Amino acid sequence: MAEIQTAHQVALEQLRTTAERLNLEPGIHEMLKQPKRSLIVSIAIQTDDDNLRVFTGCRVQHNDARGPFKGGIRYHPNVTLAEVTALAMWMTWKCAIADIPYGGAKGGVCCNPKKLSTSELQRLTRRYTTLLLDFIGPYRDVPAPDVYTDAQTMAWIMDTYSQFKGYSVPECVTGKPLSIGGSEGRAEATSRGVVLCAKEAAKLLGIQFRGAQVAVQGYGNVGSNAAKIAHEMGCNIVAVSDSKGGIYCPKGLNPDKVEEHKTNAGSVTDLEACDNITNEELLEIECDILIPAALESQITKANAGQVKAKLIVEGANGPVTPDADQILHGNNVFLIPDILANSGGVTASYFEWVQNLTREHWTLEEVNQRLEHKIVRAFNDVSRISGEEATDMRTAALILGVGRVSEAMKTRGLWPQ
Ligand code: NAD
Repeated sequence: MAEIQTAHQVALEQLRTTAERLNLEPGIHEMLKQPKRSLIVSIAIQTDDDNLRVFTGCRVQHNDARGPFKGGIRYHPNVTLAEVTALAMWMTWKCAIADIPYGGAKGGVCCNPKKLSTSELQRLTRRYTTLLLDFIGPYRDVPAPDVYTDAQTMAWIMDTYSQFKGYSVPECVTGKPLSIGGSEGRAEATSRGVVLCAKEAAKLLGIQFRGAQVAVQGYGNVGSNAAKIAHEMGCNIVAVSDSKGGIYCPKGLNPDKVEEHKTNAGSVTDLEACDNITNEELLEIECDILIPAALESQITKANAGQVKAKLIVEGANGPVTPDADQILHGNNVFLIPDILANSGGVTASYFEWVQNLTREHWTLEEVNQRLEHKIVRAFNDVSRISGEEATDMRTAALILGVGRVSEAMKTRGLWPQ
């Protein structure tokens, strides 16, 4: 067996062990192993220098037993159908754990967006949308941003879809700019959910949340907002990092100052009165709460034993490998898995969709209040199962997610048979 498991192998193995625990009917397990539909498309665009280029894209729709498919679209050179399939499966569990009426999907285009101009990206996005036109829509499949796609990308999808329909359909995507039906609070919702999960776990573990020492890996959307929200809630942010390295300041950092410095200097490193550290050192720093919010596979069997945090909250997708999971569990490190910890983003997406469908616009306070209610309930549901089944939080989250989806499939039945 290969040393490093691919995301798809990990997803299938998680499903297998969860199906065993749930005593799932073999037929339901078989259906869940594979997406309901996978679409591969060739996206031809005119480049700025008047040539034709063709990119390969896909949309994987894993399961829609609980509601329309839902999931991000990523633009990345390493996008593969297998990876997107795993991400679509995780979206199915994530939406079920958050208890929002969606299934799971994911899309991707194999390209290097950093090497495409804005107008090329616009043409790519619009052409990709036309190729998916019969398979997406407010009641079918609702895309959202993911790696290297953003609110502007969603605006182009919304406009293309609406042009074909002949009227505005803001509810066909989420993560849109506010001016065309985006939701207040959507941009920070993933991070707010991460910090709220950390707060709930701190209560369980007897960690004083106000004053808790927090380290954050990655200072992008999820990491920087998580640092800011944790700071607002009274935590002491002792270390942060980005792709160029990290900084450590045991007395505590001001996340707004770090952001300002990063904007001016291009990195969080070299901030006054802080020690520069490497990304490896950040993961092993003395702290109460560690939030990996950068990339996948950051805590592996090579460094899991050196983690000193009592609590890890997975802001990123898949930052802890399965081998590392076992080591951390053995060392009594409490881990809140990505499918629960970063579900605040899709929950706020659901709020955006509801607001669009009802032509309403909620205040930031209303969005944040509803988000807190949903995420705290999801945390408590998973924590209860973890206690009942005497298992870790990741296994408990999978039991909840796979259990809810299979229940919906059995209730709906199979037609045509
Ligand atoms: P982003 O691109 O805004 O930020 C990523 C950050 O990680 C950047 O600061 C980058 O410099 C840093 N980074 C890159 N390589 C690093 C390394 N080796 N060590 C330390 N830092 C490094 O991305 P994002 O939207 O914040 O997403 C981060 C993660 O969270 C991804 O795994 C994403 O799938 C996941 N996620 C994001 C959302 C969301 O709403 N944005 C929702 C759910 C999950």
